[in-house]
Amino acid sequence: MNLDNIRIVLVNTSHPGNIGGAARAMKNMGLRNLYLVAPHKFPHEEANWRAASAGDVLEQATVTATLPEAIADCQFVLGTSARERRIPWPLLDARGCAGEVAQRCANEQVAIVFGREDRGLTNEELQLCNLHLNIPTSADYSSLNLAMAVQIVCYEIRMVWAQGDLPVQADEQWDTPFATQENMERFYAHLEETLVALEFLDPAAPRQLMARLRRLYGRVRLDEMELNILRGILTETGKSLQRSRGDDA
Ligand code: SAH
Repeated sequence: MNLDNIRIVLVNTSHPGNIGGAARAMKNMGLRNLYLVAPHKFPHEEANWRAASAGDVLEQATVTATLPEAIADCQFVLGTSARERRIPWPLLDARGCAGEVAQRCANEQVAIVFGREDRGLTNEELQLCNLHLNIPTSADYSSLNLAMAVQIVCYEIRMVWAQGDLPVQADEQWDTPFATQENMERFYAHLEETLVALEFLDPAAPRQLMARLRRLYGRVRLDEMELNILRGILTETGKSLQRSRGDDA
């Protein structure tokens, strides 16, 4: 298990104190890769103050303008959420997710994404993720403070790490690397374009088709070779469509 292959991503954080609190929570548990997507106030003295002796995590934090940039090179992405969303997604609690992360982080880049203090992650952002993480709470009040949610997730990862080496998992012996988020996004764009050309997807009434396809491929997890095969099929489909339409004209 390599904790350095795990990154914590905070999206659009409003309160710099929460950024500092998250940095401290991470360092306490042995994680150090912090990504900040368009934070409202950063750097900020309140972040430094709340980070206490984790100022180095803040100094080395990577700031990006968008979430896709922060997770572009990741092969496994988890999104945290305090509530149920419209389309059910693979969902585990923090402990279950820590087990999944442990299996992936030996060889893969893993991201755990946290949302805005006031409204969490959007459905679109959650649909970029392979797996959703929910921290079980009282039904009366399910929304934790952001830094405290980071603390619990990092603690669960620490507990798995503390057990020592895990048995080798099938994924670790895979012959081809798993596709990065960036390449998956290119595939989804190509797939959508092809489905529109085929008139299978109506852009005026897309329903939840792309969300369901994202969920399907996110659940399976494609390796780079499988992804190239599918891209090749899409390219040939596009060409064949153009030829047959040319013939009709
Ligand atoms: N009102 C928002 C909650 C925002 S709390 C919502 O309903 O989604 C800010 C962030 O803390 C969330 O986006 C999530 O990253 C994390 N968080 C808070 N409570 C959580 C919980 N019970 N399970 C998982 N993550 C949680």
